[in-house]
Formats: sequence, C-alpha cells, structure tokens
Amino acid sequence: MKSKIFAQECFVRFSKNGKSAFGIYRKGLIGILDKSPFCNDSAVIGEIALSDVKLLAPAEPSKVVAIGLNYASHIGELHPEITGIPSPKLFIKPSTAIIGPNDKIIYPDMTHHVDYEAELGVVIGKKTKNITVQEAKDSVLGYCCLNDVTARDLQKSDGQWTRAKSFDTFCPIGPAIARNIDPFDLEIKCFVNGKLRQSGNSSLMIKNVYELISFISNIMTLLPGDIIATGTPKGVGEIKPRDEVTIKIDKIGELTNYVVGSR
Ligand code: MG
Repeated sequence: MKSKIFAQECFVRFSKNGKSAFGIYRKGLIGILDKSPFCNDSAVIGEIALSDVKLLAPAEPSKVVAIGLNYASHIGELHPEITGIPSPKLFIKPSTAIIGPNDKIIYPDMTHHVDYEAELGVVIGKKTKNITVQEAKDSVLGYCCLNDVTARDLQKSDGQWTRAKSFDTFCPIGPAIARNIDPFDLEIKCFVNGKLRQSGNSSLMIKNVYELISFISNIMTLLPGDIIATGTPKGVGEIKPRDEVTIKIDKIGELTNYVVGSR
C-alpha cells in the first residue's frame, strides 16, 4: 500500500532534483506554488505531474499538539481504571519527529515496544489565539492522516509521555492536506502489512475538532502550519522493523511508512 491521495482538492509539499515546494494537487497534476499555502497571496507558477516528484510531509509545523484519550473506546483498552469523561490530555510532539509519505520510521534502541496510533491531523491555517468553538472552522487549512507513533513501554515506565512520543520519525503526516471536508464523519483506519488492525470514526471523538482548536487556543497560540493530533480510536497495536504501516482516512488518502531498525 504505497501512499495515495484521495482528496479532490488538496495541498502537497514535494521535492524534485533537491528542491522543495508547496503545490495544489488536482487529478494527477500539481500546480506549483511560489509560496506556502499559509500565505494568503501564494500563486501558481507552473505545473508538474505527481508521478515526477517525491511527496514530502505536507506541513512544517512549529509544534504538533496531540490529544491523549479522546475516544472512549481507546480509554477502555488502555486505561480501564478511568471512569467518566476525562478532560483532554495534551502533549507536544516536536517538529523534529515529522516525516512524510513513504519515509522510514526508525525503531529506537531505547525501546522494546512501539505502537502505531491512527489519527486525524488538523492543519492550522492562520495565527489562532483565544477563539471560540464557533470561530474554530476559520482557523483550519485542512486535514491529513497522522500516525502518533509511541514507545509504549517508555510511556508506561516514565509516567509522563515526552520521551515515548518524541523520537525522530515518530510523527508521519500526509500524504496531503485535504481542503473543504467535513471532519465529523471520517473513517480512520490503520493497516500493518496490508492487514486491517484499527478502525474508528471521527464522529466518536469525545471533544470534536472545533472544540479541540478552541480549547488549545486558550492555552497556547497556534501558528500557521501547526498540527493537532486529535487522538486515536481503539485498536492500537505493535509495529516492528520491516513492517509497513498505513493510516487511511476517507476523503484524505493513505499514508504509508516503513519501520526500520536503527542500524
Ligand atoms: Mg495518540
């Protein structure tokens, strides 16, 4: 399952002959942008076939703000001791963890248990601070697939999550930023070596996309290109070196990455 774009209208980032650029993708062709889509005045200056380029991570966030425990079904499988509806648990994945479609996830020597987590990624389009739920839609540039790769043994032994979630390559995003899609009813799936391992729907989030954007914006300023990882449904599981892992979301695409050992 090589990474694949389903979105009708989306932004991509790509490289060709050592140079990278943003583009608008439609029907096999990329309209090359002179600036990033986070600038209001970016313009199309040329065209190139998708098959002639390497797709890169479609955004370069200053931070990825991730939500833990945003699906009741996932809380049930990992934290059966939690009763009632918890407030969102926030953590940050560093920008250095980002990789793009078809890139390698490097399995660190420090861990003996790495899990995939299929999630809907929200890409922020403009500087966002102290906004209401009603205003949140205006802050969204679009949506991508995201894999919140996690060293589960270190998450448990450390008690807090920074080390477990922050290794280089532990945040694949892509394959594109889908525009103008409804974030409230999207099938979110994970496949390992082509076999379905996780399946959920964004309608089952405890806090929906707009509630999350408002909540986070009242804590920290979200900048253009920042990404919110909206939490994983139930069905998380292990990946090992030589595995192929694919996050598939309706109307966005398939994000495939390959797990390799560190040496
Ligand atoms: Mg997660």
